[in-house]
Amino acid sequence: MPICSYCDQDKAATREHIIPSWYYQHDPSPDDVGFMERAKGKIVKTELVIRDVCGDCNNGSLSELDAYGKELFLSHLARYVFKDSSESLCYDYERLVRWLLKISYNSARAHDSDTEILAQYKKIILGEQALPASVILRLRTIAPATHGVYAVFPANKDSVIADRPAWFRVGVFRVKKFDSMYWAFRHITINSYSFLLYVPDLSSSHASSEADSLMSAVAAENDGSILINSTGRLVVPEPRIDSISFNMNHIGQFPITYKVVESNVIKTALDNQFGLVNYWIDRKDIEEQNISNALAFLNDLTSSREVCMGLKERLELSVHGYNDDSREIYEIPEVIAFLRALNEAWPYWMLFQHPEFTWLQVMAVCLCSPTRTKDGKVAFDHEEMSELMTKWFCSLNELCHKFAISLTVNKRVSAQAQSILTKGLV
Ligand SMILES: [Zn+2]
Repeated sequence: MPICSYCDQDKAATREHIIPSWYYQHDPSPDDVGFMERAKGKIVKTELVIRDVCGDCNNGSLSELDAYGKELFLSHLARYVFKDSSESLCYDYERLVRWLLKISYNSARAHDSDTEILAQYKKIILGEQALPASVILRLRTIAPATHGVYAVFPANKDSVIADRPAWFRVGVFRVKKFDSMYWAFRHITINSYSFLLYVPDLSSSHASSEADSLMSAVAAENDGSILINSTGRLVVPEPRIDSISFNMNHIGQFPITYKVVESNVIKTALDNQFGLVNYWIDRKDIEEQNISNALAFLNDLTSSREVCMGLKERLELSVHGYNDDSREIYEIPEVIAFLRALNEAWPYWMLFQHPEFTWLQVMAVCLCSPTRTKDGKVAFDHEEMSELMTKWFCSLNELCHKFAISLTVNKRVSAQAQSILTKGLV
């Protein structure tokens, strides 16, 4: 039997909804769809569930939290917030945070993202451990949209309404100017209310030592969000964005799902159920020192979070057309020059490298002044190698920050890269 993701006991698993089922029942409109990032190329229209929670947890503490969420929805969240609304929100701070943590943890497991941090909160979600004061919750709002001639705006109560924020979404967000592996960020957006949850890693003191710089970065963003504190009552902040603009921002992160870009190579690769995507670098391009073909493909890989997540750990490259050449790839000067230029322009190999293949090692050897030793092995410059590693790890972190890719993925990919790079080398 599976181990329950909350109580860690070996009990029969039940279905737990990621988006609470009462939300669908409240307004079962055909336009309201659950959005699941993992389902490539389509928007899932069914209710999203996971199956690793035991009946006792599901029907006990977790369902009590959902009942609280439902109560809050019916009393407050179901009402849209307009630019000229003056709404207050009354809430039970602890239950609200635990409910939002539960939704985040469920969604994290479904997407294999940030589970390391969010799993530390399972006993807190169940109410068996106290809620740490270091968790931060903020609120921003999204107005229904009204339109002018060329643009859309947050609506007033008496505006002509073009679109309403009728949705329940869970997703990652990032804080500009704050880059840390010790915090997980989730937004839980329910109609006009977007709850921003900042969840610290409880396993070390790193997260708490970063709390001040996180707060300054949040303040610098000036996104119109306000802190939700334990007083239990607040004046709902005025919306700065409308539902159409909010949706466009979201679509920018999921271009394939929404068919915004038409890249056949990437689409075919994403649809391909087999793991490996092999890209051939052509001898003709190498002889002409023309990196543009390879670079166009590589730039597509890093064009959005969706493509990154779909193709991470799936790529292998190879150099083609030198079979008749008796030299090894790393002994051919034009190959080295080509790879050097490519690596200058696009250093994000680590995230995409298939763990069972060796392109990273080929690159590393070629770029670090390789020489063949007397016993037929390859020697390389260790200082250059160390600089190259730094560059690759920084590039991986840059991507993870840009697209809010989790620490779990970052660590796994880093370990795989280490193991590929050290395999059989001098
Ligand atoms: Zn359980």
